[in-house]
Amino acid sequence: MHKSTISSYWPIVDGHMDTISIMYESDLDFSRRQTQTHSDLVRLLEAGIGLQVLALFTRPNSNKSVSLQKILSYLEYIHGIADGEPRLQIVKTTADLPGKTPEPDNLRALLAVEGGDCLGGELWVLRLLYRLGVRLLTLTWSNRNQLADGVWEADSKGGLTRFGREVVQEMGKLGMVVDVSHLSPAGFWDVAKHVSDPFVASHSNAVELCNHPRNLTDEQIKCIADHGGVIGVCFCGPHLAESGRANLDHVIAHIEYLWRVAGEEHVGLGTDYDGINETPEGLKDVTYLPKLLEALAARGYSHTRLEKFAGANFLRVFQEVLPSD
Ligand SMILES: [Zn+2]
Repeated sequence: MHKSTISSYWPIVDGHMDTISIMYESDLDFSRRQTQTHSDLVRLLEAGIGLQVLALFTRPNSNKSVSLQKILSYLEYIHGIADGEPRLQIVKTTADLPGKTPEPDNLRALLAVEGGDCLGGELWVLRLLYRLGVRLLTLTWSNRNQLADGVWEADSKGGLTRFGREVVQEMGKLGMVVDVSHLSPAGFWDVAKHVSDPFVASHSNAVELCNHPRNLTDEQIKCIADHGGVIGVCFCGPHLAESGRANLDHVIAHIEYLWRVAGEEHVGLGTDYDGINETPEGLKDVTYLPKLLEALAARGYSHTRLEKFAGANFLRVFQEVLPSD
């Protein structure tokens, strides 16, 4: 269907999608075409996605073992599907990342956990998650957890806790990507101080265009770029436009703004499909991503710039941070 796009921008990489948790909770099969979700394996392949970050998310629960059980159930679900599915490969090392040759029938998935609540304050849980294939951790969701405060608690001015600092240090040793989306500003600046590898904001936009606590200031955007990281543009309506109702043009405006502040090496896709209630007009599910790239190309942006945006920037960070074997 989108074969031309597959060959012109390969691989497309999306830095954030909540499909797995939704599929598990609704008893749906990720490997089959679904109608209730924004994404599934079939549509990801149709869209020309070569690498998808699959975030495992569960709402904060005061009982940390409940959070951990949920995350483990999602991990068991996705590994179970990958075991019997030749079109799906879980990325564990840099050798597993997609190469330059398009593979229209092969999706690589990088497993991520959104919110460190499930760690329950224990570093061994982080190491266990790593053994189970998790390669990216969004330190907090919007709530406070044992690592740091999320954006809901920004007034506290609290940064990384001692445990949070231990976690990012251990992630550096293991080869896991630190994700600052949802993190409070004080936590963000602690990450900038304590993390030497490139880090990402997997699904965040620009506060200058849309004043929302989940969005990034120019200083934060520049800081992520200075560290060699990437900001994934998010399709969540209230993060794109203050009215809460967004379309393809709002998405393009954030991309162009982030390019101006961060440079073309540091912007990518972080759709948040299946983590958002409403999708922007013109981007109703993952198969519409090629339309976004076509719209950017129609504005005269170079092929090189769009290749970086479509996937090469996220790929560069994963090459740098993930273990080589
Ligand atoms: Zn999120």
